[in-house]
Amino acid sequence: MRIVEIRESAVPLQANIQNAVVSFADHTVSLVAVVSDVIRNGKPVTGVAFDSIGRYAQSGLLRERFIPRLLKAKPDDILDPSGGAIDADKALRVMMRNEKPGGHGDRAHAVAAVELALWDLNAKLAGIPAWKLIADKFGVEARERMPVYAAGGYYYPEDSLGRLKDEMKSYGDMGYTSFKMKIGGASLAEDMTRIEAALSVVGDPNVLAVDANGRFDTPTAIAYGKAMAGYGLRWYEEPGDPLDYQLMADLAAVYDRPLATGENLFSLRDVDNLIRHGGMRKGRDLFQMDPALGYGLGEFARMIKAMEAAGYARAQLFPHGGHMIALHIVVGLGLGGSEAYPGVFAPVGGYAPDCTLEGGGIAPGPLPGFGLEAKPDLAPHIAALTA
Ligand code: MG
Repeated sequence: MRIVEIRESAVPLQANIQNAVVSFADHTVSLVAVVSDVIRNGKPVTGVAFDSIGRYAQSGLLRERFIPRLLKAKPDDILDPSGGAIDADKALRVMMRNEKPGGHGDRAHAVAAVELALWDLNAKLAGIPAWKLIADKFGVEARERMPVYAAGGYYYPEDSLGRLKDEMKSYGDMGYTSFKMKIGGASLAEDMTRIEAALSVVGDPNVLAVDANGRFDTPTAIAYGKAMAGYGLRWYEEPGDPLDYQLMADLAAVYDRPLATGENLFSLRDVDNLIRHGGMRKGRDLFQMDPALGYGLGEFARMIKAMEAAGYARAQLFPHGGHMIALHIVVGLGLGGSEAYPGVFAPVGGYAPDCTLEGGGIAPGPLPGFGLEAKPDLAPHIAALTA
Protein backbone atom coordinates (compact mmCIF):
# COMPACT_ATOMS: atom_id res chain seq x y z
CA MET A 1 0.00 0.00 0.00
CA ARG A 2 1.23 3.47 -0.88
CA ILE A 3 0.03 7.02 -0.24
CA VAL A 4 -0.55 8.58 -3.65
CA GLU A 5 -1.60 12.08 -2.67
CA ILE A 6 -2.62 14.19 0.32
CA ARG A 7 -5.12 17.03 -0.15
CA GLU A 8 -6.33 19.76 2.18
CA SER A 9 -9.05 22.37 2.09
CA ALA A 10 -10.01 25.06 4.59
CA VAL A 11 -13.69 24.67 5.44
CA PRO A 12 -15.54 27.61 7.07
CA LEU A 13 -17.40 26.89 10.29
CA GLN A 14 -21.04 27.90 10.54
CA ALA A 15 -20.92 29.55 13.93
CA ASN A 16 -22.09 33.09 14.41
CA ILE A 17 -21.54 32.86 18.17
CA GLN A 18 -18.98 33.81 20.75
CA ASN A 19 -17.84 32.74 24.19
CA ALA A 20 -16.19 34.86 26.90
CA VAL A 21 -13.05 35.26 24.77
CA VAL A 22 -13.50 34.30 21.11
CA SER A 23 -15.91 34.95 18.22
CA PHE A 24 -16.17 31.93 15.91
CA ALA A 25 -17.64 33.83 12.94
CA ASP A 26 -14.50 33.63 10.76
CA HIS A 27 -13.17 30.29 12.02
CA THR A 28 -12.09 27.56 9.60
CA VAL A 29 -11.05 23.90 9.85
CA SER A 30 -8.52 21.93 7.76
CA LEU A 31 -10.21 18.99 6.05
CA VAL A 32 -7.54 16.48 4.96
CA ALA A 33 -7.77 13.53 2.54
CA VAL A 34 -5.00 10.89 2.34
CA VAL A 35 -5.44 9.03 -0.97
CA SER A 36 -4.05 5.48 -1.16
CA ASP A 37 -3.28 3.32 -4.20
CA VAL A 38 -5.76 0.67 -3.04
CA ILE A 39 -8.80 0.68 -5.34
CA ARG A 40 -12.19 -0.56 -4.14
CA ASN A 41 -15.45 -0.22 -6.06
CA GLY A 42 -13.52 1.71 -8.70
CA LYS A 43 -12.30 4.37 -6.24
CA PRO A 44 -9.09 4.79 -4.21
CA VAL A 45 -9.49 4.07 -0.49
CA THR A 46 -9.04 7.51 1.10
CA GLY A 47 -8.61 8.49 4.74
CA VAL A 48 -10.39 11.68 5.78
CA ALA A 49 -10.15 13.76 8.97
CA PHE A 50 -9.96 17.36 10.19
CA ASP A 51 -8.30 19.37 12.89
CA SER A 52 -10.74 20.24 15.63
CA ILE A 53 -13.06 23.17 16.18
CA GLY A 54 -11.89 26.49 17.58
CA ARG A 55 -8.32 26.84 16.28
CA TYR A 56 -8.47 27.57 12.48
CA ALA A 57 -7.36 25.66 9.38
CA GLN A 58 -3.61 25.07 9.02
CA SER A 59 -3.33 25.08 5.21
CA GLY A 60 0.12 26.70 5.03
CA LEU A 61 1.79 24.47 7.62
CA LEU A 62 0.32 21.39 5.93
CA ARG A 63 1.37 22.34 2.40
CA GLU A 64 4.82 23.64 3.28
CA ARG A 65 5.99 21.09 5.85
CA PHE A 66 3.89 18.13 6.96
CA ILE A 67 2.34 16.87 3.72
CA PRO A 68 5.63 17.03 1.70
CA ARG A 69 7.54 15.19 4.46
CA LEU A 70 5.02 12.36 4.51
CA LEU A 71 4.87 12.09 0.70
CA LYS A 72 8.68 11.97 0.51
CA ALA A 73 8.96 9.12 3.06
CA LYS A 74 10.08 5.67 1.93
CA PRO A 75 7.39 2.98 2.36
CA ASP A 76 9.37 1.31 5.18
CA ASP A 77 9.43 4.61 7.08
CA ILE A 78 5.65 4.71 7.49
CA LEU A 79 4.16 1.24 6.84
CA ASP A 80 3.33 -1.32 9.53
CA PRO A 81 4.99 -4.79 9.33
CA SER A 82 2.15 -6.18 7.16
CA GLY A 83 2.83 -3.51 4.54
CA GLY A 84 -0.93 -3.12 4.15
CA ALA A 85 -1.53 -0.25 6.61
CA ILE A 86 0.17 2.90 7.87
CA ASP A 87 1.93 2.86 11.25
CA ALA A 88 0.61 6.19 12.57
CA ASP A 89 3.46 6.54 15.13
CA LYS A 90 6.05 6.12 12.37
CA ALA A 91 4.20 8.65 10.22
CA LEU A 92 4.16 11.10 13.14
CA ARG A 93 7.93 10.80 13.51
CA VAL A 94 8.37 11.48 9.78
CA MET A 95 6.12 14.56 9.93
CA MET A 96 7.99 15.90 12.98
CA ARG A 97 11.46 15.69 11.39
CA ASN A 98 13.38 18.96 11.84
CA GLU A 99 10.77 20.31 14.29
CA LYS A 100 12.16 21.64 17.58
CA PRO A 101 10.65 20.46 20.89
CA GLY A 102 8.25 22.74 22.77
CA GLY A 103 6.10 25.58 21.48
CA HIS A 104 3.18 23.32 20.65
CA GLY A 105 0.88 25.68 18.81
CA ASP A 106 -0.86 25.47 15.47
CA ARG A 107 1.46 22.76 14.11
CA ALA A 108 -0.09 20.33 16.63
CA HIS A 109 -3.48 20.77 14.89
CA ALA A 110 -1.97 20.46 11.40
CA VAL A 111 -0.25 17.18 12.28
CA ALA A 112 -3.38 15.93 14.07
CA ALA A 113 -5.52 16.33 10.95
CA VAL A 114 -3.14 14.13 8.91
CA GLU A 115 -2.50 11.57 11.68
CA LEU A 116 -6.25 11.10 12.20
CA ALA A 117 -6.81 10.77 8.44
CA LEU A 118 -4.29 7.87 8.58
CA TRP A 119 -6.43 6.20 11.28
CA ASP A 120 -9.49 6.69 9.07
CA LEU A 121 -7.56 5.20 6.14
CA ASN A 122 -6.43 2.18 8.18
CA ALA A 123 -9.97 1.53 9.42
CA LYS A 124 -11.35 1.75 5.88
CA LEU A 125 -8.63 -0.61 4.60
CA ALA A 126 -9.64 -3.06 7.36
CA GLY A 127 -13.35 -2.46 6.61
CA ILE A 128 -14.21 -1.62 10.23
CA PRO A 129 -15.41 1.47 12.14
CA ALA A 130 -12.57 3.53 13.64
CA TRP A 131 -13.70 2.89 17.23
CA LYS A 132 -13.17 -0.86 16.67
CA LEU A 133 -9.69 -0.40 15.21
CA ILE A 134 -8.78 1.92 18.11
CA ALA A 135 -10.13 -0.47 20.77
CA ASP A 136 -8.25 -3.42 19.22
CA LYS A 137 -5.02 -1.47 18.80
CA PHE A 138 -4.94 -0.19 22.38
CA GLY A 139 -6.43 -3.34 23.97
CA VAL A 140 -9.40 -1.51 25.46
CA GLU A 141 -12.94 -2.75 26.00
CA ALA A 142 -14.94 -0.27 23.94
CA ARG A 143 -18.00 1.55 25.26
CA GLU A 144 -21.31 0.99 23.53
CA ARG A 145 -22.25 4.66 23.65
CA MET A 146 -20.47 7.89 24.39
CA PRO A 147 -22.05 9.82 27.27
CA VAL A 148 -22.72 13.22 25.75
CA TYR A 149 -23.78 16.62 27.00
CA ALA A 150 -25.14 19.59 25.08
CA ALA A 151 -22.64 22.45 25.17
CA GLY A 152 -23.99 25.94 24.60
CA GLY A 153 -25.61 28.38 26.98
CA TYR A 154 -24.49 31.40 25.00
CA TYR A 155 -24.90 35.11 25.62
CA TYR A 156 -27.63 36.81 23.61
CA PRO A 157 -27.88 40.54 22.92
CA GLU A 158 -31.62 40.66 23.69
CA ASP A 159 -33.74 38.76 26.23
CA SER A 160 -30.57 36.94 27.30
CA LEU A 161 -32.16 35.05 30.22
CA GLY A 162 -35.28 34.07 28.29
CA ARG A 163 -33.27 32.83 25.33
CA LEU A 164 -30.85 30.95 27.60
CA LYS A 165 -33.80 29.12 29.16
CA ASP A 166 -35.28 28.40 25.71
CA GLU A 167 -31.91 27.06 24.56
CA MET A 168 -31.57 24.69 27.54
CA LYS A 169 -35.16 23.52 27.09
CA SER A 170 -34.55 22.84 23.40
CA TYR A 171 -31.56 20.58 24.25
CA GLY A 172 -33.75 18.63 26.67
CA ASP A 173 -36.38 18.27 23.92
CA MET A 174 -33.68 16.85 21.61
CA GLY A 175 -32.95 14.11 24.15
CA TYR A 176 -29.91 15.53 25.95
CA THR A 177 -29.85 14.91 29.68
CA SER A 178 -26.85 17.06 30.65
CA PHE A 179 -25.75 20.53 29.67
CA LYS A 180 -23.02 23.15 29.73
CA MET A 181 -23.30 26.94 29.63
CA LYS A 182 -20.91 29.87 29.26
CA ILE A 183 -19.82 32.13 32.09
CA GLY A 184 -17.29 34.97 32.16
CA GLY A 185 -18.94 37.10 29.46
CA ALA A 186 -20.86 39.22 31.99
CA SER A 187 -20.47 40.41 35.59
CA LEU A 188 -20.33 37.82 38.36
CA ALA A 189 -23.78 38.85 39.61
CA GLU A 190 -25.28 38.58 36.11
CA ASP A 191 -23.63 35.19 35.58
CA MET A 192 -25.12 33.87 38.85
CA THR A 193 -28.57 35.00 37.63
CA ARG A 194 -27.90 33.16 34.36
CA ILE A 195 -26.90 29.97 36.20
CA GLU A 196 -30.08 30.17 38.29
CA ALA A 197 -32.14 30.68 35.12
CA ALA A 198 -30.57 27.59 33.52
CA LEU A 199 -31.05 25.58 36.72
CA SER A 200 -34.74 26.56 36.74
CA VAL A 201 -35.02 24.64 33.43
CA VAL A 202 -32.65 21.68 33.87
CA GLY A 203 -33.45 21.12 37.56
CA ASP A 204 -30.61 19.00 38.90
CA PRO A 205 -27.33 20.99 39.34
CA ASN A 206 -25.50 17.70 38.78
CA VAL A 207 -26.38 17.89 35.08
CA LEU A 208 -25.20 21.50 34.52
CA ALA A 209 -21.56 22.47 33.94
CA VAL A 210 -20.17 25.98 33.38
CA ASP A 211 -17.30 27.05 31.09
CA ALA A 212 -15.30 30.30 31.48
CA ASN A 213 -13.13 29.60 28.39
CA GLY A 214 -9.95 30.71 30.14
CA ARG A 215 -11.19 34.21 30.93
CA PHE A 216 -10.37 34.75 34.63
CA ASP A 217 -7.31 35.73 36.63
CA THR A 218 -6.80 33.89 39.93
CA PRO A 219 -8.80 36.25 42.21
CA THR A 220 -11.75 36.27 39.77
CA ALA A 221 -11.61 32.47 39.31
CA ILE A 222 -11.73 32.06 43.09
CA ALA A 223 -14.52 34.66 43.50
CA TYR A 224 -16.62 32.73 40.93
CA GLY A 225 -15.77 29.46 42.69
CA LYS A 226 -17.00 30.85 46.02
CA ALA A 227 -20.14 32.32 44.45
CA MET A 228 -20.97 29.00 42.69
CA ALA A 229 -20.03 26.65 45.55
CA GLY A 230 -23.60 26.47 46.86
CA TYR A 231 -25.12 25.40 43.53
CA GLY A 232 -23.36 22.00 43.42
CA LEU A 233 -22.70 22.21 39.67
CA ARG A 234 -21.38 19.27 37.68
CA TRP A 235 -18.07 21.01 36.84
CA TYR A 236 -16.38 24.42 36.45
CA GLU A 237 -14.37 24.48 33.20
CA GLU A 238 -11.27 26.39 32.11
CA PRO A 239 -11.46 29.11 34.76
CA GLY A 240 -8.16 30.72 33.74
CA ASP A 241 -5.42 30.69 31.13
CA PRO A 242 -4.93 27.04 30.11
CA LEU A 243 -1.20 27.23 30.87
CA ASP A 244 -1.66 28.78 34.34
CA TYR A 245 -1.33 25.56 36.34
CA GLN A 246 -0.88 27.47 39.60
CA LEU A 247 -4.31 29.08 39.12
CA MET A 248 -5.87 25.60 38.84
CA ALA A 249 -4.03 24.43 41.97
CA ASP A 250 -5.05 27.55 43.93
CA LEU A 251 -8.68 27.13 42.88
CA ALA A 252 -8.72 23.39 43.63
CA ALA A 253 -7.58 24.23 47.17
CA VAL A 254 -10.77 26.23 47.83
CA TYR A 255 -13.41 24.85 45.40
CA ASP A 256 -14.71 21.39 46.30
CA ARG A 257 -16.78 20.57 43.22
CA PRO A 258 -15.11 19.17 40.06
CA LEU A 259 -12.92 21.40 37.91
CA ALA A 260 -12.17 20.75 34.23
CA THR A 261 -9.42 21.86 31.86
CA GLY A 262 -7.08 20.65 29.11
CA GLU A 263 -8.79 21.45 25.79
CA ASN A 264 -6.02 23.93 25.01
CA LEU A 265 -3.10 21.66 25.94
CA PHE A 266 -1.68 20.10 22.78
CA SER A 267 1.22 17.90 23.88
CA LEU A 268 2.15 15.20 26.36
CA ARG A 269 4.59 17.62 28.02
CA ASP A 270 1.83 20.19 28.66
CA VAL A 271 -0.38 17.50 30.18
CA ASP A 272 2.53 16.27 32.32
CA ASN A 273 2.85 19.81 33.65
CA LEU A 274 -0.88 19.95 34.41
CA ILE A 275 -0.53 16.67 36.30
CA ARG A 276 2.52 17.88 38.22
CA HIS A 277 1.45 21.43 39.03
CA GLY A 278 -2.30 21.88 38.40
CA GLY A 279 -3.66 20.34 41.61
CA MET A 280 -5.99 18.08 39.61
CA ARG A 281 -7.83 15.77 42.05
CA LYS A 282 -8.07 12.01 41.47
CA GLY A 283 -11.56 10.72 40.84
CA ARG A 284 -12.98 14.25 40.70
CA ASP A 285 -11.55 16.72 38.18
CA LEU A 286 -11.86 16.34 34.40
CA PHE A 287 -9.22 16.41 31.66
CA GLN A 288 -10.43 17.62 28.24
CA MET A 289 -7.53 17.25 25.81
CA ASP A 290 -8.64 17.00 22.17
CA PRO A 291 -6.70 14.55 19.97
CA ALA A 292 -7.72 16.52 16.86
CA LEU A 293 -5.84 19.56 18.22
CA GLY A 294 -2.82 17.79 19.72
CA TYR A 295 -0.85 15.71 17.18
CA GLY A 296 -3.55 13.04 16.84
CA LEU A 297 -4.37 9.75 18.51
CA GLY A 298 -0.82 8.55 19.25
CA GLU A 299 0.04 11.59 21.38
CA PHE A 300 -3.41 11.41 22.97
CA ALA A 301 -2.79 7.78 24.01
CA ARG A 302 0.49 8.88 25.61
CA MET A 303 -1.41 11.58 27.54
CA ILE A 304 -3.81 8.91 28.86
CA LYS A 305 -0.87 6.75 29.89
CA ALA A 306 0.60 9.67 31.85
CA MET A 307 -2.76 10.35 33.52
CA GLU A 308 -3.19 6.70 34.50
CA ALA A 309 0.41 6.43 35.75
CA ALA A 310 -0.34 9.39 38.04
CA GLY A 311 -3.47 7.70 39.42
CA TYR A 312 -6.21 9.34 37.34
CA ALA A 313 -8.94 7.25 35.70
CA ARG A 314 -9.66 7.42 31.97
CA ALA A 315 -13.29 8.04 32.96
CA GLN A 316 -12.02 11.50 34.03
CA LEU A 317 -11.19 12.27 30.39
CA PHE A 318 -13.89 14.13 28.42
CA PRO A 319 -12.22 15.28 25.19
CA HIS A 320 -13.21 18.64 23.73
CA GLY A 321 -14.66 18.22 20.26
CA GLY A 322 -18.33 17.58 19.69
CA HIS A 323 -17.63 15.77 16.43
CA MET A 324 -17.51 12.30 14.85
CA ILE A 325 -13.77 11.81 15.42
CA ALA A 326 -14.11 12.45 19.17
CA LEU A 327 -17.08 10.07 19.25
CA HIS A 328 -15.09 7.14 17.83
CA ILE A 329 -12.10 7.88 20.08
CA VAL A 330 -14.19 8.14 23.28
CA VAL A 331 -16.01 4.89 22.45
CA GLY A 332 -12.87 3.04 21.33
CA LEU A 333 -10.76 4.12 24.31
CA GLY A 334 -13.53 3.78 26.93
CA LEU A 335 -13.32 7.42 28.05
CA GLY A 336 -15.78 9.37 30.22
CA GLY A 337 -17.69 11.17 27.46
CA SER A 338 -17.66 14.24 25.26
CA GLU A 339 -19.74 17.17 24.16
CA ALA A 340 -22.18 18.07 21.40
CA TYR A 341 -22.88 21.52 19.99
CA PRO A 342 -26.43 21.18 18.70
CA GLY A 343 -27.05 23.61 15.88
CA VAL A 344 -23.56 25.20 15.67
CA PHE A 345 -20.09 24.46 14.28
CA ALA A 346 -21.45 22.69 11.18
CA PRO A 347 -20.29 21.08 8.96
CA VAL A 348 -17.58 19.44 11.13
CA GLY A 349 -19.37 19.74 14.48
CA GLY A 350 -22.20 17.36 15.32
CA TYR A 351 -22.97 13.74 14.54
CA ALA A 352 -24.28 11.84 11.53
CA PRO A 353 -27.96 10.86 11.47
CA ASP A 354 -27.00 7.18 11.93
CA CYS A 355 -25.44 8.02 15.32
CA THR A 356 -28.42 7.70 17.63
CA LEU A 357 -28.83 9.60 20.91
CA GLU A 358 -30.42 7.46 23.60
CA GLY A 359 -30.38 7.67 27.39
CA GLY A 360 -27.84 10.53 27.30
CA GLY A 361 -25.42 8.53 25.15
CA ILE A 362 -24.62 8.57 21.44
CA ALA A 363 -23.50 5.53 19.42
CA PRO A 364 -21.30 5.52 16.31
CA GLY A 365 -22.79 4.27 13.03
CA PRO A 366 -21.65 1.19 11.09
CA LEU A 367 -19.54 2.84 8.34
CA PRO A 368 -15.82 1.98 8.13
CA GLY A 369 -13.55 4.74 9.47
CA PHE A 370 -14.85 7.74 11.40
CA GLY A 371 -18.06 7.67 9.33
CA LEU A 372 -17.64 11.30 8.22
CA GLU A 373 -19.15 10.52 4.82
CA ALA A 374 -22.50 9.81 6.55
CA LYS A 375 -22.78 13.43 7.69
CA PRO A 376 -24.98 15.19 5.09
CA ASP A 377 -23.49 18.66 5.66
CA LEU A 378 -19.87 17.41 5.54
CA ALA A 379 -20.24 14.91 2.67
CA PRO A 380 -20.21 17.57 -0.10
CA HIS A 381 -16.94 19.01 1.26
CA ILE A 382 -15.38 15.52 1.29
CA ALA A 383 -16.69 14.84 -2.22
CA ALA A 384 -15.20 18.12 -3.50
CA LEU A 385 -11.85 17.42 -1.82
CA THR A 386 -11.59 13.86 -3.15
CA ALA A 387 -13.04 14.47 -6.65
MG1 MG B 1 -14.47 24.53 26.96
